[in-house]
Amino acid sequence: MNREKTPAVPFPDDPGEQVPFVALTPQRWRCCSCGGGGVTGDGETCSSCDGLGFC
Ligand SMILES: [Zn+2]
Repeated sequence: MNREKTPAVPFPDDPGEQVPFVALTPQRWRCCSCGGGGVTGDGETCSSCDGLGFC
């Protein structure tokens, strides 16, 4: 068996090559009433998004 000096496939377990998990962008939009904070200027829970900050 003739082993190559440079493997065609990099080591899958190399921690330096691990790509951090990229969170998928949720298919929602930032609330236009509270600006994404979930609360209104009065400190009340935004009624448009129910405090979630997005619709
Ligand atoms: Zn809102």
